[in-house]
Amino acid sequence: MKWEYIQPVTIRFGEGIVKEVKDVAASMGCKRGILVSDPFFLTNGLADKIVKDSDGTLVCVYGEVSPNPEVKEVDACAKLIRENDIEFVVALGGGSALDCAKASATMCFREGESVRTYHGTGVPMPQKHLPLIAVPTTAGTGSEVTCVAVLSDHELGKKGPIVSNGFYPSIAMIDPELTYTLPPRITASTGIDVLCHALEGFWSKGHQPVCDALALHACEIVFKYLRRAYKDPQDKEARAKMAEASVIAGLAFTLPKTTSSHACSFPLTNLYHIPHGEACGLTLDCFARINAEVENGRVHEFARKLGFADTYALADAIHELKVDLGLRLDLKDFNLTDEQVAELVKTSHHPNMLNNPVEITDEILNEMYQSMR
Ligand code: NAD
Repeated sequence: MKWEYIQPVTIRFGEGIVKEVKDVAASMGCKRGILVSDPFFLTNGLADKIVKDSDGTLVCVYGEVSPNPEVKEVDACAKLIRENDIEFVVALGGGSALDCAKASATMCFREGESVRTYHGTGVPMPQKHLPLIAVPTTAGTGSEVTCVAVLSDHELGKKGPIVSNGFYPSIAMIDPELTYTLPPRITASTGIDVLCHALEGFWSKGHQPVCDALALHACEIVFKYLRRAYKDPQDKEARAKMAEASVIAGLAFTLPKTTSSHACSFPLTNLYHIPHGEACGLTLDCFARINAEVENGRVHEFARKLGFADTYALADAIHELKVDLGLRLDLKDFNLTDEQVAELVKTSHHPNMLNNPVEITDEILNEMYQSMR
């Protein structure tokens, strides 16, 4: 088995470290920055506070990022960066703000071009990019340490990742206090995303020992602390542990890549607007059962290390976790027609599906979606 582990992002973790953004930017020698965020942080005052604390270093704000950010938002943000001679980018928010910022930090060098050129087209993303400080506010995507930016293109009806080594942030600043304002529903959805990253990174065809160890650590934390963070948003220990699990799971999947649950999540979000993490979690226990027997039982062994009898017991535990978190267990409320099921089957064959250790056929997908109707 051949493998390589690289991780170019400096990670700083701790309660209150968001205050250090200015010093971190200064240490990078950057003087003119942009803050990229979503409307929640413009309304709750945190974006303003970060700009004020920056003593003039952050000279403008792009605050229009929507959940599952659109290619047009990237183009608009890249334009603002160009117009203001920006030298570095600070991304504040969930995966959506971080991903929009990552893509914009590259696209700002491509005047006259849209990010659409690189979205699901196979055209490699140019590498030149501005330095990025990523400040996550959800405990979910791990985007602060990944080389991935997931974008949506509503006109062309697609959602999917762009992968580029230029997307690695320079610095990830993880401040668990920023997650205290997450309502239980978003805590649940983003938290189950952490479990998907860890498990999919583990069973991915691209798995490797370093990421395996990270995946196990992240899964242990999710089973122990996610229910607590969901029940009590102010549970500081649970919030800190989930923030830790999120970044560790990001490291666990960014090299092996995600697999079947993420592939299915793209059309589930795009067509039925199911929030990202919830869409990934919807199929996670199904794929755990499908992948249970691969590679001499390595998924069973992983499940046993987590304290379960085998992968089937792990799948049951994922189901129970979703029940306790009030997450979606099926697609009944959409009253899917046969045509809609067929469309889901077809559009779930995103390239990430090819990373799954078991070949996922139309028949398997059809059976899974039929059982959820
Ligand atoms: P998000 O960024 O879409 O945010 C969801 C909602 O939560 C928004 O309304 C936002 O305003 C709100 N929110 C965020 N932080 C908050 C806080 N602290 N308090 C209150 N509200 C808050 O959610 P997400 O799940 O973090 O990101 C999802 C996106 O990330 C999807 O597009 C997904 O495909 C992508 N993603 C990217 C990667 C990657 O490696 N780049 C990995 C997984 C998922």
